[in-house]
Amino acid sequence: MTAERDPSATTDPVQVGGQVGLPGGSHGTTAALTFVGTATTVLELGSFTILTDPNFLHRGQRAYLGKGLWSRRLTDPALEIEDLPKLDAVVLSHLHGDHFDRVARRRLDRRPPVLTTPDAARRLADWGFDTQPLTDWQQHVLGDDGESLTVTAVPGIHARGMMGALLPPVMGSVIEHRVGDQVRHRVYVSGDTLTGDHLDAVRRRFPDIDTAVVHLGGTRVLFHTVTMDADQGVDFLGRIRPDQTIPVHHSDYGVFRSPLGDFVTKARRAGHSGIRVVKPGERAELRPDTGA
Ligand SMILES: [Zn+2]
Repeated sequence: MTAERDPSATTDPVQVGGQVGLPGGSHGTTAALTFVGTATTVLELGSFTILTDPNFLHRGQRAYLGKGLWSRRLTDPALEIEDLPKLDAVVLSHLHGDHFDRVARRRLDRRPPVLTTPDAARRLADWGFDTQPLTDWQQHVLGDDGESLTVTAVPGIHARGMMGALLPPVMGSVIEHRVGDQVRHRVYVSGDTLTGDHLDAVRRRFPDIDTAVVHLGGTRVLFHTVTMDADQGVDFLGRIRPDQTIPVHHSDYGVFRSPLGDFVTKARRAGHSGIRVVKPGERAELRPDTGA
């Protein structure tokens, strides 16, 4: 659990000036992802801005994973909380210290609703956050008939069997941006899940995913793999078939054991196009016709 690897083997995050591009006056056309680190991203979809899995610990600090387990962060976040644009909501896959940490707990604005599992929502409500608990397939809609963002919670399995009982419940999320009736962009954030037939249910419900944000890393906890490694990530792509894929959750902690390069190589070898590696601090346009 506390096993470390050489921090010099990881890529240093690219520090950016601090401003994430703001979607003002976008008329619903913006679709962009800024990668902050771990599974933390800023998603700009039309006039909406969403933060995912806020992890703002710095290099050398420990993330607590419950049950006495922890892992040391190997990287710095590319942005600080104070650099974030105004948020419409936070989407949180589960309550683990590499997804919602003590920095977020102290410094994150408590007003935007946190859409998360009922388990995590209870804890966050105790800490004064506005929460919106979602069970599998439940939805929360932001906006109005003119422009809306629908977040649907979808199944995630952090671990099976005995190990599953040690880890908190996880949700994936499908985030749909609509202008009027028309879906402009559909993003699937996997959450910390293993691959499996629960993903086939996601594909049946959402056969047309524009962008998959995939939590990888092949995280090892107590001799169990509890997030997708390279092979599982490729299996995920075979099941979900997104137009483009942005890997996250792969280089920031000692417990992440499956290198990003393995996933990229194996995915391309398996014929999956549209793999886009977004560096920390980088803002990627998500329109499928740009660079996928
Ligand atoms: Zn994690």
